[in-house]
Amino acid sequence: MEAYLDNNATTRPADAVVDAVTETLRNDWANPSSVHRFGQRARHRVELAREQVCTLLGCRPRELIFTSGATESNNLALHGFRLARQQCRTIITTALEHSAVREPCQHLADSGYRIINLKVDIDGLVSVSDLQAALRQHGNDTALVAIHWINNETGAIQPVEEIGGLCRTHAVPFFTDATQAVGKIPIHLDQIPVDALSFSGHKMHGPKGIGGLFLRTRSRLVPQVLGGPQERDRRGGTENVPGIVGLGVAADLAGQCLAGDGPARIEQLRRRLEQGIIEAVPDAQVISANAPRIWNTTNIGFPPLESEAILLLLSEKGLCAAAGAACSSGSLEPSPVLLAQGVAETVAHGAIRFSLSRETRDQEIDYTLDIIPQVIEKLRASLPAGPKA
Ligand code: PMP
Repeated sequence: MEAYLDNNATTRPADAVVDAVTETLRNDWANPSSVHRFGQRARHRVELAREQVCTLLGCRPRELIFTSGATESNNLALHGFRLARQQCRTIITTALEHSAVREPCQHLADSGYRIINLKVDIDGLVSVSDLQAALRQHGNDTALVAIHWINNETGAIQPVEEIGGLCRTHAVPFFTDATQAVGKIPIHLDQIPVDALSFSGHKMHGPKGIGGLFLRTRSRLVPQVLGGPQERDRRGGTENVPGIVGLGVAADLAGQCLAGDGPARIEQLRRRLEQGIIEAVPDAQVISANAPRIWNTTNIGFPPLESEAILLLLSEKGLCAAAGAACSSGSLEPSPVLLAQGVAETVAHGAIRFSLSRETRDQEIDYTLDIIPQVIEKLRASLPAGPKA
C-alpha cells in the first residue's frame, strides 16, 4: 500500500494535462511569435490557455503574465514593483512567507531596504491592526505589501480581502503569493483588492516549470527578464507552449472541481485524518488548529520526535508526507515558519505536514491512520529515557 499525502509539494499531473502537453509537443511545436501558419497555431493555443486560466482567476487576458512558476513570479513582483517605486525603501511582509518571498526580501534588507515583518499569532494569522499601524507610519515609503494567501506549511488562510482593502486606502500595491490557493478556492480577482498574485501549475495537477503572475491593469512593474517582447514586454523569452497548454487544461479541471463537491469530500477526509491521529497518538498537536484552513492541509507535531526520523519510517512504509516546505527538507532544523508563528520548538521539530488533493482516496487515509500510531510509538519507545516533552 502507498499513500501520497504531499500535494502541497506537488500534485500528480492530471491525465488530460499529460495528453495535452504531449499532443502540443508533437503537433504545435512552432514558435508562437512566428507569423507563418505553424506559429499562429501555437499562438492560438497559448491564447486559449490564457483564457482558461483567466476564467479560473476572474481576471482579463492582458492581466496574466506566464512565467516559469511561482518562484519567478514572486521575484518578478517583488523586484518589479520596488523598482517601479524607487523612491520607496520599505517592504511590508511576514516571516511566514515561502522562501521564494523571504529570501529576496532578505537580500533587499542586506542592501538597505527596511523589511517589516508583521506580527502573527500562534495560528499563523497576520495581525491586521499591525498592518494598519505599519501603513500609517511607513505607507509613504512602502513599495509593496507582500503577504501570502494560504500558508504552504499549515494551510492557514490569511484575510487577504481585508489586507488588500487597507493597502488600497494607503495607495500601496498589494501582492499575494497564492500558490497554495489557486485551484483550491474560488478566486474572483475582478472583485478583490489585489494588485498582483502568483501561482504555479504543478500545485494544481498541471505541469512543473509553468505558472503565472496576475498583474492588475495600470499597475506599474519593471520587467526582470529582458530579451524579447513576449508577454506584452513584461517577460521575455519564447513561451513554454506545452506547459502553458497544460496549465490551461489544469485550470479548467480545477474550476470543475471547485464547482462540484470535491473540496467538501476532501475536507471530510482531512478531518477524519486529523481527528484519528489526535485520538490515537498522545500529545499530538495540530498546528494552526484555530485558523481558517484550506481543506487539504494539516500539520501535526509529535513531540519530542524529530520529523526527519518520522518521515524516513513513514517512507519505508510507503507513506509520503513532508516536514515544512519540501525545499527545506533534508535539514534537521525545525521550520523557521512554524517557529516564527510561536509554535514550541519541541513541537515544530517533530511536525509533519499531510497534504491531500482531489485525488486522495479513502484507503490512503485508512492506511495513514493505521501506521502513524505504530510509527510514533516505535520512535518514542526508542528514545533515550529522560524527561519527555
Ligand atoms: N510559494 C508557495 C506558497 C509555494 O508553496 C511554493 C512551492 N512550494 C512556491 C511559492 C514555489 O513554487 P515553484 O517551486 O513552483 O516555483
